[in-house]
Amino acid sequence: MLSLGIDIGGTKAHGLVLDATDRILAERVLPTETSDAGVRRTVLAVAAALASDLGVDPSHYASVGLGIPGFVDHTSGVVETAVNLGITRTDLTGLLAADFTPAVRVENDVKATALGAGLSLGKGYRDLAYVNLGTGLAAAAVSNGRLVRGARNGAGEIGHLAIDPAGELCGCGQRGCLETVVGGPHLARRLGPLGLDLASLAADPRPAAAAERDRLVAALATTLTLVVIAYDSSAVVLGGGILKAASWLRPMVADELRRRAVGSAFLAGLAVADRLVELPSAAPVAAIGAAVVGRKKELRARTDTVQVA
Ligand SMILES: [Zn+2]
Repeated sequence: MLSLGIDIGGTKAHGLVLDATDRILAERVLPTETSDAGVRRTVLAVAAALASDLGVDPSHYASVGLGIPGFVDHTSGVVETAVNLGITRTDLTGLLAADFTPAVRVENDVKATALGAGLSLGKGYRDLAYVNLGTGLAAAAVSNGRLVRGARNGAGEIGHLAIDPAGELCGCGQRGCLETVVGGPHLARRLGPLGLDLASLAADPRPAAAAERDRLVAALATTLTLVVIAYDSSAVVLGGGILKAASWLRPMVADELRRRAVGSAFLAGLAVADRLVELPSAAPVAAIGAAVVGRKKELRARTDTVQVA
């Protein structure tokens, strides 16, 4: 029972194969080609490389799952507006139908990562929210072992909650979205001209650094509070490139959350800071999640982790 999972990012595709006991048998990272045809070539290249590593034919995969940015209809496999991949709208399941024996299942990458986080963290993580701090800001929740997708697969698009009417213009057309404060490109645009660096922002003594740091920490504290109010997940997992680049960020946000809870019985009761959970640092959770997506069926009760609807 070989489960292939591939997380297709804007520049690289991370693939792996899980066995029936969720052990990673092989892992590969290859560059991503853009466009519909390019993404298909990328998937086939990763699948072939992993099959070669394992000494099997790609037809041996019992399931194939993909995590990909953009709006994804997991029932049809149609992907829309995956801008970084040059995809406007494509039926990825259809595009790969002739290439694999099992139907290729596709999910939004943040949602897939939430499943991967549940599996990686292990027993007991049937209720969790994953918050991705990267180019964009989005969350995905797993509730009672199932992904929360919503009626239009839009659940968790919290990055586009506008918190500042005078804030920066967002790609979504609004002003002052949470994403305009914490999203990677917005951060880079603000910090660059000031000569500031995300990694050293907390240690930088200049007032401009303190202002940007406080702004970022406050927006993230608000984001995490929003996630807990919306989902009441027992664990909130943080991931993404921004977090990797700023190791100071998570502890400072936790401090800010605790500071806010002083004097508010409501916030103290939410205990947002206590719900923050770190992922095993080396775990390729996005690709693991993609493999879980491919399996379709719920995972074995033995592991008591996650399942896919
Ligand atoms: Zn927006």
